[in-house]
Amino acid sequence: MTDRAQSAFALPLAQADPEVAAAIEHETLRQHEGLEMIASENFVSEAVLEAAGSVFTNKYAEGYPGRRYYGGCEFTDVVENLARDRAKQLFAVPGVALHANVQPHSGSQANAAAYMAVLEHGDTILGLDLAHGGHLTHGHKLSFSGKQFRPTFYTVRKDTERIDYDELESIAVREHPKVIIGGASAYSRIWEFGRMRQIADKVGAKLIIDMAHIAGLVAGGAHPTPVGHAQIVTTTTHKTLRGPRSGLVLCDQELAAAVDRAVFPGQQGGPLVHIVAAKAVAFKEALQPDFAAYARQIVANSKALSAALQAGGWRIISGGTDNHMMLVDVFSQGILGSEAELALGKAGITVNKNAIPYDANPPLKPSGIRVGTPALTTRGMKESEMHQIALWIGKALESRNDDAVLARIRGEVGEMANHFPLYAWRREPVTTAV
Ligand code: PLP
Repeated sequence: MTDRAQSAFALPLAQADPEVAAAIEHETLRQHEGLEMIASENFVSEAVLEAAGSVFTNKYAEGYPGRRYYGGCEFTDVVENLARDRAKQLFAVPGVALHANVQPHSGSQANAAAYMAVLEHGDTILGLDLAHGGHLTHGHKLSFSGKQFRPTFYTVRKDTERIDYDELESIAVREHPKVIIGGASAYSRIWEFGRMRQIADKVGAKLIIDMAHIAGLVAGGAHPTPVGHAQIVTTTTHKTLRGPRSGLVLCDQELAAAVDRAVFPGQQGGPLVHIVAAKAVAFKEALQPDFAAYARQIVANSKALSAALQAGGWRIISGGTDNHMMLVDVFSQGILGSEAELALGKAGITVNKNAIPYDANPPLKPSGIRVGTPALTTRGMKESEMHQIALWIGKALESRNDDAVLARIRGEVGEMANHFPLYAWRREPVTTAV
């Protein structure tokens, strides 16, 4: 045995770093035992996890397949080409010559690259207001997007809580944006991408659609595709798409060179090759016929949950959902979103507090919670489980100050979760406190 084989280099994590190992085990148990209802989260397959934890983490690979600034990239080229080809196949639309860049480290970097490909510093962008469901990178003043560009916003209507495309058009005519960006972090209705492209064309803007939340639904045919409407489509790969934590840009061939230059060297250095490999695996999974069934079930579960919550007296923003998530106006029952998040957490149900449109409460104590079904659908849960979960949510919120009731619900939640196992290698609880 060499010296190195005997050193910490060769030890399993549990021996090399018991503290980190324990935290990972605790997180594994948390994911198994609770109900993960954060709308932007999901569980990747064993195969995606394996690729993400592979030796490709060791590789530098600035550049693109066949045009690298480093040697030893022959296998990196294999996985990047697989990821690119599969992404194009997954989101293919007849008559559209699609280009894919699979290197963005995240959704935010995908958006930064998309802007960089078509905008100059100071140009006007028009996005959905964060307070109405948009994302920070769509022009918020604290984000690079609000600092480098001149941000303008559209909103949802107060009465319908849906995007008003006529209003969007009049704002676009008034503000002359160079980019209109669609997509959201908290919007539960179908996007009208064709209408958005008409508006963009009318004012001479490019249309960028950030489909981060709904990419898996688009891939599975459960939401209309922005491809063919938007000149650039960006996405995260870890939400409904069920891949590793990362980003992707799709664009028309005419913008391919500008997008590639904007990702590298514009926004990033070397790609995370292990994550590119994991994206390739995830895209292959999403190309299988059962992924379409998965996408449909996400929406069916979301609709079932929304209807059951409404039957329990909860107000759902815009009156329901067409996709994987909903916003619940808990403040209409006198409960702050922050209180609801805490109480549900104690009951083993993970959600996040969220502003609702025209929220009278501040961002850290907003009026709503955002609830999503992608992760539970991955575990195999269906409409009947959604009905039970709606009952638990109602009971937990009503009993938010009663820790005994919340603990009892947590026990019931754990029992149900056990019937929907996740990773086969799950181990028994460790004793090390974290
Ligand atoms: N775009 C949208 C619509 C999002 O919801 C998110 C993240 O939640 C992002 C972009 C940013 O993704 P990331 O966290 O990978 O930077």
